[in-house]
Amino acid sequence: MNPPETLETQPPRTVTCPTCSGDSIYGTSNPHRPFCGERCRNIDLGNWANEDFRVQLAPDVSTDLTGPCSID
Ligand SMILES: [Zn+2]
Repeated sequence: MNPPETLETQPPRTVTCPTCSGDSIYGTSNPHRPFCGERCRNIDLGNWANEDFRVQLAPDVSTDLTGPCSID
């Protein structure tokens, strides 16, 4: 299902890019909206990813270093 063509013909709206505070086209022509481009979007996603990453970096002590050593 495609959106009605009338949406495509609307004049592009511009918003402020959250990353660089520059002009960003808020429309179908900008897949990275509300960011002005892919770079600004990646920067924002990177900030989130870093916080996520720190949680996942918790020391994993479950590594099995001492296997069963039943010497008979
Ligand atoms: Zn930007």
